[in-house]
Amino acid sequence: RAKAEGGHRYQHFTAEMSTTTRRRVEIGNALRHAIRLAELSLHYQPRASVQGGAAVTVGMEALLRWDGQLLGRVAPSEFIPLAEQNGLILQIGQWVLERACHQAQAWRARHGAALPVAVNLSARQFRDADLVRMVEVALQSSGLPPHLLELELTESMLMQDARRTRRTLAALKAIGVRLAVDDFGTGYSSLSYLKSFPLDYLKIDRSFVAGLPQDRSDAAIVRAIIAMAHTLGLKVIAEGVETAGQLAFLRAQQCDEIQGYWFSRPLAVADMETYLGRPGQQFGAVAPLSGSIG
Ligand code: C2E
Ligand code: MG
Ligand code: MG
Ligand code: MG
Repeated sequence: RAKAEGGHRYQHFTAEMSTTTRRRVEIGNALRHAIRLAELSLHYQPRASVQGGAAVTVGMEALLRWDGQLLGRVAPSEFIPLAEQNGLILQIGQWVLERACHQAQAWRARHGAALPVAVNLSARQFRDADLVRMVEVALQSSGLPPHLLELELTESMLMQDARRTRRTLAALKAIGVRLAVDDFGTGYSSLSYLKSFPLDYLKIDRSFVAGLPQDRSDAAIVRAIIAMAHTLGLKVIAEGVETAGQLAFLRAQQCDEIQGYWFSRPLAVADMETYLGRPGQQFGAVAPLSGSIG
């Protein structure tokens, strides 16, 4: 199949290559074996609702980790753009989707934690004609109810081809999954487009959260995003919340949910299991979306 094609072409070193180029080639080549060698894993970062008294766990985001035999731990910010270029992202993305759905379903059964799992989609995956089917297969093979899967997209992905975007989003919504715009505020979304897309969440990029509560422009931007999102009927998640001061500001501005080191770091599977099994651990109830299938 076409999606595997990008994975077979090796690049070779030449004397003229810069260190950066060599590193990129090295990563590109090593990544081709990462799935087979079981070098990829997912960490899970819990997120909390902050409206209401105590912070209650209401979801988690699956974050890819790669511990390569040759290269050690490589950050997603380094290898995902490369995987996007050489096409490996399609295989990797499918693996992530399958793994995250199976894991969320296993935890649902074991801990009674009906926690939605959020999966990041890359631009190439979003444009892939197979995406919708791939999502259906991941849900069916895992048994995870569709409303417990969230897909994170970026503004630039949404704004590329509005017609096609609308068609893909409608197909995903028909399955019953939730849709989130990640890193919101860093791209150039058209508000009228945003309004016309069937989205559920905006995730405020952590670069705006970092300056809270002191930085006046960050504070103004965050306030505006929350107000706008609520007007459009979207829930707001703030990313990268690290301090009590940031949390207090966000709470006062009616931000719905937070994700960040203040609440929890991304956790390896074993640590997430300890987290989920903590006595008294509270999970927010997530109702299926009205009108959704399944
Ligand atoms: P993202 O989707 O915006 O994910 C949030 C990033 O912020 C994660 O970085 C997370 O570890 C980090 N983070 C969470 N809380 C805090 C905090 O309080 N402070 C700070 N400084 N950082 C925080 P990570 O895991 O390195 O991932 C980076 C990016 O790589 C992600 O950004 C996402 O765009 C991409 N990525 C990760 N996993 C996948 C994947 O499975 N597929 C695709 N396509 N992209 C992925
Ligand atoms: Mg994300
Ligand atoms: Mg992202
Ligand atoms: Mg983000």
